Amino acid sequence: MAEWPRKIIICEVGPRDGLQIEKASISTEQKIELIERSGEAGAKVIEIGSFVHPKAVPQLADTDEVAKRMRRRDDVEYRALVMNLKGLERAKEAGITKAKLTVSASRSHSLKNLNKTPEEAIHRFSEAAEYAAAHGIILSGAISTAFGCPFEGRIPLEQVIKVAACFRDIGVNEISLSDTTGMANPRQVFEYCIKMRELFPAVIWNLHFHNTRGVGFANVTAGMMAGVERYDSCFAGLGGCPFAPGASGNIATEDLIHMCHEMGIESGYDLDDVISLARYIQQIIGHETSSFILKAGKSSDIVNSFNKTCIN
Ligand code: ZN
Repeated sequence: MAEWPRKIIICEVGPRDGLQIEKASISTEQKIELIERSGEAGAKVIEIGSFVHPKAVPQLADTDEVAKRMRRRDDVEYRALVMNLKGLERAKEAGITKAKLTVSASRSHSLKNLNKTPEEAIHRFSEAAEYAAAHGIILSGAISTAFGCPFEGRIPLEQVIKVAACFRDIGVNEISLSDTTGMANPRQVFEYCIKMRELFPAVIWNLHFHNTRGVGFANVTAGMMAGVERYDSCFAGLGGCPFAPGASGNIATEDLIHMCHEMGIESGYDLDDVISLARYIQQIIGHETSSFILKAGKSSDIVNSFNKTCIN
């Protein structure tokens, strides 16, 4: 019988994965405010943006400014996405000490995007890895479309193992498996995570789910049952699927925290602070998001209001 984790570590990916597809213009000050409020609410890891070409992701073109100006807390790890050595150099210049490299597990996806196989793409990261080691920057790796890809369908476990081994070979020992397109299912997540933990016992595993088809939280549960304790989520459930415009976004941070607290699993967050932050974000972007708690309220709210109704 598997054991539930006593606590999980949540990485707030909202400032990067959440905001990158939003149309509304969000100022540098607002981004800094969202990052600082996430830290105050209890986030222990925050992905603050990405150092990619400004034309590729215009919404995040000011990540350098954000990183330089935000107030940092000692108890929070701030990380940013980079795609190559150039991005890593910019990250260092902005004072970032943790960077995430992403590669797709799908050959077709990787060839289409980068004109390289996943293995070739990681091989190209070795110069970034040397630079990171020389400058005290810790690298983590993310394997996108790790469970399914619109071009190839289900990604075989063997392919994910190959990509993870390439990351390990360049010295990356924290790896995230990302269900970029919301195609994973709980059984697959459980089986992949059990196997990956067995094959790479020194790697710290992280899971990243989008709730595109409504199984994001079931996938988290399957990950917990397989012993994974780190999860990405996004305030207000922003973000979407690059291949399915209008699809639900990342699992919402407030929904994940609510679920964990109901299960007696610690998150280190103040749920009410996260909920008010998520409401504020909806105001900034000017539309509703896929957060469940923002619509339905907490379980305890409904219990309280039911009791009041009974007493009255
Ligand atoms: Zn994502």
